Amino acid sequence: MTKKCNKCEKVKPRCEFSLRALCKKDGLQNRCKACAAVYHATRKAGGFITLRKPRSAEASKRYRTKNTDKIREYQRAYQARKRTAKPNPNPKPDYYVRTKTKQDKHDELYRSILLNM
Ligand SMILES: [Zn+2]
Repeated sequence: MTKKCNKCEKVKPRCEFSLRALCKKDGLQNRCKACAAVYHATRKAGGFITLRKPRSAEASKRYRTKNTDKIREYQRAYQARKRTAKPNPNPKPDYYVRTKTKQDKHDELYRSILLNM
């Protein structure tokens, strides 16, 4: 039995895939073990992860030309919403802005020392 990896799109034997939640039909991950290792290493390193394949520029262009009216309509609605947007009904109270935290005071002192060196 083989399975196609969703990431590298290579057909590999089932043992190349880790077990997954039971709700999956075959009980296996979508990525092969090699791709999963890369994924987890990237995640651990705090790197940027794209779960979905990025949409090609051509596909975006096709969408734009096909849905010109829809996009224009959306933009118009968005601009209208922006124009009529009300200010925040619950602004932060004055004291919240004025009160400096201990850390702020420390930072300020530190900065002044650095500037006067
Ligand atoms: Zn793979």
